[in-house]
Amino acid sequence: MKCNFKSILYISITLICSQFAHATDEINVYSARKEAYIKPLLDQFGQTHNVQVNLITAKADALIQRLLNEGKNTPADVFITVDAGRLHRAKQAGLLQAIKDPAILSQVPHQYQDADAQWVGLSVRARTLAYRHKNVKEEELSNYEALTNASWKNRICIRSSNNIYNQSLVAAMLAHHGEQATQAWADGLVANFARKPQGGDRDQIKALAAGQCDLAVINTYYLGKMMTADAAQQAAASEATLFWANQDDRGVHVNVSGVGITAHSKQPELASKLVAFLLTDASQAWYGEVNLEYPVRDGIEINNILQQWGPFKADTLNLTRLGELNAEAVRIMDRAGWR
Ligand code: FE
Repeated sequence: MKCNFKSILYISITLICSQFAHATDEINVYSARKEAYIKPLLDQFGQTHNVQVNLITAKADALIQRLLNEGKNTPADVFITVDAGRLHRAKQAGLLQAIKDPAILSQVPHQYQDADAQWVGLSVRARTLAYRHKNVKEEELSNYEALTNASWKNRICIRSSNNIYNQSLVAAMLAHHGEQATQAWADGLVANFARKPQGGDRDQIKALAAGQCDLAVINTYYLGKMMTADAAQQAAASEATLFWANQDDRGVHVNVSGVGITAHSKQPELASKLVAFLLTDASQAWYGEVNLEYPVRDGIEINNILQQWGPFKADTLNLTRLGELNAEAVRIMDRAGWR
């Protein structure tokens, strides 16, 4: 519906237009993030642009399956999830379309967006080392590669190989070192496990605090969340100190939460507006603050806890590679006996 602003019926037509817009502008978001981590932002977009935002939250793989089942009839316009590996899965399944707005693509650092612009990062997540300061000195730590050293025998806690964060970590090793070296690394790492992989990243920190291991591999926001959780979690978190891995070479392994416009969105322009909104200064600051992740754009204010941890050098590997190398990473972990 087009409005002729020169018309003598300007006022009444504008009124009809705005009512029309109000009644029909709806956007559907499928998100794998916890509702509290995204809904307030979506509501704000809705208010600012006079759009009704409908949010469906579920696990990433369930949403990918749902998008596959719905095919062309999907009501979804936007897909939000964590980990470049999963964003890549959605891309490979033909569920996304290229983001065309050059302003979006120029705002997100090149390494944090898909090579074909099918998704862009919204926040950066660092997967690094946490050590039990009672037993470990900072000088003993350097990089992921050194975790295969015999001095770490029976001292490392890490979650299972079916976790995408670990798959992406191994995929990054593959991108940097190739198959043989990565296999040797995975074999050596598994040989140093303190226990059979179990639980999530918070459980690795709890095990470390309980003295079951001296070193854990974690996404930093879990430690941050435990620092502000109940007394037991705070106590566990206080036993762990964060260490930025690989600062003398390629930088710490990072990943993103990200967003894509669905292949069958009926309104890709509106979807693109939502993506742009998620990248504004205010959205980036809020999103990082609530999730304790890092903004994907430079120059955005970060949370106090993140400031305490100090600046770090991040790996500049293009995250598209993590998705491309996922299957090979899983095979390597399987062969290493990483359960
Ligand atoms: Fe997580």
